[in-house]
Amino acid sequence: MHELLRRAATHAADFRASLPERPIPARGEPGFGGPLPAAPTPPDKVLEELIEAAEPALMATPGPRFFGLVVGGALPAATAADMLAVGWDQLAFNDLVGPAPVAVEEAAGAWLKELLGIPATASCGFVTGAQGANTVGLAAARHHVLRAAGWDVERDGLIGAPRVRVVASAERHVTVDRSLRLLGFGARIVEEVRADANGAVDTEDLARVLDSREPAPTIVVLQTGNVNTGACDDLRTAIPIVHRHGGWAHVDGAFGLWAAAAPQRRHLTDGVELADSWGCDGHKWLNVPYDSAFAFVSRPQVHAAALSMTAAYLTGAGGRQVADRTVESSRRARGFAVWAALRELGRDGVAELVERCCRLARRFADGLADAGFEVANDVVLNQVLVSFGEGERTDEVIAAVQRDGTCWMGGTTWRGRRFMRIAVSNYATTEADVDRSVAAVVRCASR
Ligand SMILES: *Cc1c(COP(=O)(O)O)cnc(C)c1O
Repeated sequence: MHELLRRAATHAADFRASLPERPIPARGEPGFGGPLPAAPTPPDKVLEELIEAAEPALMATPGPRFFGLVVGGALPAATAADMLAVGWDQLAFNDLVGPAPVAVEEAAGAWLKELLGIPATASCGFVTGAQGANTVGLAAARHHVLRAAGWDVERDGLIGAPRVRVVASAERHVTVDRSLRLLGFGARIVEEVRADANGAVDTEDLARVLDSREPAPTIVVLQTGNVNTGACDDLRTAIPIVHRHGGWAHVDGAFGLWAAAAPQRRHLTDGVELADSWGCDGHKWLNVPYDSAFAFVSRPQVHAAALSMTAAYLTGAGGRQVADRTVESSRRARGFAVWAALRELGRDGVAELVERCCRLARRFADGLADAGFEVANDVVLNQVLVSFGEGERTDEVIAAVQRDGTCWMGGTTWRGRRFMRIAVSNYATTEADVDRSVAAVVRCASR
């Protein structure tokens, strides 16, 4: 076991060391497949085969010049902690069988609430991603608004329930719709609110939409960090409007909620403490390994009522059952890596990480605008949208950049136009990485 884990760790460290200069795309095809082996294979041989099969197809997504999706790297202490979580193989379920995973989630959860501007009294579930966080937040919302209408949705489901309204921005993240599907609402329930010029919710239109129908149990999904533009909803204005209508305000803050941790960006999340539930990712801007995110609920008893489960063999189990705050039952102890990342960075380090990424996004925007290309969004956070002319032309440039391999950006369609989308969220990205990437994009665009 010692030699095996040492080899795995050494291989992972070698890969990580290669990232600053490694071309981003996969070098070849993955070597998996073949028939199911009948006979056992010794573990060291399995490790060797796994590395050989995966290595050619590994992408430098954790590297400093990957700007696709909204992807973080994995901080050194967080990486090591996650390897320990796997090695220790502890169960994050309750504190009878997993005292350490439960305690570390409590500790890291308290630190997260402080950094993100969420009330200390909120409960926190460690979920797999902002998708999971949206599902948990909306499950709590569903419980609360239907309970207030005299309906027990956990017992009786949605058939025959009072009709619920779900109001959300036209520019909400797609995972919100999937959460609504999973919760039995269906995606078509959404009443859309217009977004403003940069993609934040138009609060006047929000009030208009809410006023447009008879009062009903109402859930409103707001957003901190538009996935295209980085725009953040004006929570200070929007949430009181929601509450005046008796609604539940859920904030999808997958990456944008981290603005609260940086003094120069905190104004973007002003009013965040007023919300009823929040979702935020760890594997994006906090730079912890996949899969890691947080679902916070302002009323712990609502959180538990929406998700708790019990069975005869569980009664009398530990006092704290973290499995009642997520949709998973048995889970890996992902709190160790979150605790390690926050311990490694400290409050100042998180603030600096967020601010640096925003500054580097601005540097991208300035560099590409200086080269004559159109930056379409107001770069308030870490997202930049760039056009190279017609949609086809922009897609050609994106494809050329991806082939070139110096850096990697994806494409998106925003308001009917094609753009190169640049997200800066890796702790290791430097000014030199951005300058080198701008040069690569300009080179590809001028071919
Ligand atoms: C990325 C993102 C999500 C989904 O997050 P996962 O971690 O992929 O589950 C949801 N909402 C927003 C705004 C996002 O940026």
